[in-house]
Amino acid sequence: MPEYTIMRDATISARKKLGHKTVVVLPVHYPRELFTAMDVHTVELWGPPGPPHGPDAGRIQAYTCAVVRNALAFLASGGADAADAVLFPHTCDSIQGLATLAPDFGGWGKPALRFLHPKGGDGPAARAFVRAELSLLADRLAELTGRPLALPRLAEAIGLHARIDRLRGDLLSRRALLGMGDRDLYRLLRRGEFLVPEDHLAELAVAARGLGEERVQRGVPLMVTGYVPEPMTLLDSLASSGAFVAADDYAAVGRRVPLSFPADGGDPLDTLAAKAFSMPPCPTRGGDQDVRMEHMETLYRRSGSAGLIVHVQKFCEPELFDVPAIRRRFARIGAPLLYLEGELEASLSGQVVTRLEAFVEMVDARRNAP
Ligand code: SF4
Repeated sequence: MPEYTIMRDATISARKKLGHKTVVVLPVHYPRELFTAMDVHTVELWGPPGPPHGPDAGRIQAYTCAVVRNALAFLASGGADAADAVLFPHTCDSIQGLATLAPDFGGWGKPALRFLHPKGGDGPAARAFVRAELSLLADRLAELTGRPLALPRLAEAIGLHARIDRLRGDLLSRRALLGMGDRDLYRLLRRGEFLVPEDHLAELAVAARGLGEERVQRGVPLMVTGYVPEPMTLLDSLASSGAFVAADDYAAVGRRVPLSFPADGGDPLDTLAAKAFSMPPCPTRGGDQDVRMEHMETLYRRSGSAGLIVHVQKFCEPELFDVPAIRRRFARIGAPLLYLEGELEASLSGQVVTRLEAFVEMVDARRNAP
C-alpha cells in the first residue's frame, strides 16, 4: 500500500480519537483555514493515482480525467468511509458533476459540501461573493461539528496557515539553495495534503533550516507547470537525468502558495476572502490568461530555468485551455518545452522516461553551447 494511503488513514484515525471530524477534499483550492478554525481535519483526494479502486470509474465517460474517474471509484469502494463529508470545490465542470453523480450513483451517502470560487478578477462584488461562500461553508461545517465558527479561532488559523504558506514559498522559491532532492521535497510538501497543520508546519520548519546562502543544486534547472506531480517517479527520472525542478507551477503545489500576505487584524472573513485574490493565476479558478503568462515567464526567468515541462492530465479542460498560450509564450522567449500528458499512472512508462532524458540532455547541451 502506498505510503500516503497509510499516512492518511493513520491521520484520520488519530483525529477521530480527538473527536474531530474529517472532510475529504477534491482538488484544488479551498479555504483550509476555515476547517482548521472549526477543528475539522481535511484530507485531499487527488485521484488517488494508480488503477481505479473498483468498477465505478466506468460509470463516467471515458473522456473524463482520471482524477474524477478514480475519485468516484475510490468513494464508491468505501475508500473514504472513515471521513464524515466530502468537499467538492468548483474547480471544473467534471468535479462539479461528480458532486451530483457520486451521491446519485451510490458513491457517497454522507454530506457533499460545495465551494464556489470567484471566476475573474478582484473587486467589491467578487469579495462579497467569496465572503458569502465562506459563510455558507462555515454554516455547513457547523452542522457537521455542532459548533459555530468562532472568529477569533479563524484569525488564529489564518496566522497558522500563513506561516505554513511562507515556508512552502521559501522552499520553492529558494530551491537551488536547498540541499534536498526533488523527491524528498515534494514528499514533504505533499504531506500537507493530509497532515494536521501544526505537524506540517513543524516538518517544513525543519526543512527550511537546510536553506543556505550558496547554490547547492548543480543539475539542469527546469520549470514544471501542470496539475499534480503524479506519478512521483517523474521526479526520480528528472534527478537521474541530471535535472531538478527550479520553479514549480503545479496546481497542487506552487499555485497554492499566495503571492502576498495580508496585514494582521481586521475581520478574519474579509482577510480570508482577500486571500483568494492573492494567489498565483490558476486556470482552475478562471482568471486572465495574459496575467498567467506574465506570471509564468517571471517565474521562469527568476528561477534561472533552462527549459519548461508542461505536465497535464489527459482530458483536463482548464489546464489544456492554457497550453496553446504557454507554447506561444515560451516559444517567443526561446525556451525549450516538453509536453507530457498523464492519467495518474502508478509510474512513468519507459517511453516517457526516454523523452525526459532526451529533453534534459538537449537543454543541457543548449545551455552549455558557446
Ligand atoms: S484534472 Fe482537470 S478536469 Fe480533472 S478534476 Fe482536475 S481540473 Fe477538473
